Amino acid sequence: MTPEDVLARIAAEVSACVKCELHRTRKKAVPGEGPADAEIMLIGEGPGFYENEQGRPFVGAAGQFLDQLLEQAGLKRSEVWIGNVVKCRPPGNRDPLPEELAACDAYLERQIEAIAPKIIITLGRFSMNKFLPDAKISVVHGQMRRVGKHFVIPMYHPAAALHQPKWKPQILADFAKLPALLEVARAELSKAAPKVAEPKAAYEAPQEEPKQLSLF
Ligand code: URA
Ligand code: SF4
Repeated sequence: MTPEDVLARIAAEVSACVKCELHRTRKKAVPGEGPADAEIMLIGEGPGFYENEQGRPFVGAAGQFLDQLLEQAGLKRSEVWIGNVVKCRPPGNRDPLPEELAACDAYLERQIEAIAPKIIITLGRFSMNKFLPDAKISVVHGQMRRVGKHFVIPMYHPAAALHQPKWKPQILADFAKLPALLEVARAELSKAAPKVAEPKAAYEAPQEEPKQLSLF
């Protein structure tokens, strides 16, 4: 299966999922969207009113602000993958419950595995807590760190920044750093890639030597 196939399959499973109570009140599940080879994944909290109507992530006011943040970082929405830690809307936009987060997590894990992004941007605390359980957003926002095979950048949630004007300059400044951070992530991850040719040559050399010696 190609990564596109894997993502399509996950989306189909999510649309029919009944693994937690949120399936009872959802209108449309929101699996997430974007290219299967995206270098950047943005992970929010969960669908809100408009996302639940349309089955697409970040299409309300927070989504419009997110589009702006991406644009000023020189990124098009169409080149990043956007999703959430829970795929169905918590009623009245309440916080997702621990059991709902736990039930839904396997879908996000499979999406990350299929896409293999260089950078995961967390939006809001539930998404940050998945990767950096002890971090405080007021301390770590905008800072990139390596978590396993990826780099993670925790960002303030665009909806929070819209409602708390004091955070707006900060989230704008954090997103403005993205092009430079992407360069760092690309360089670091290409360094880590195994070199195929060298170990093979080093391994084969000792096998040949005894044969040559035996000629004398
Ligand atoms: N807020 C989120 O966290 N996710 C969405 O998809 C929309 C708003
Ligand atoms: Fe399934 Fe996730 Fe929706 Fe719960 S929130 S029903 S686990 S897709």
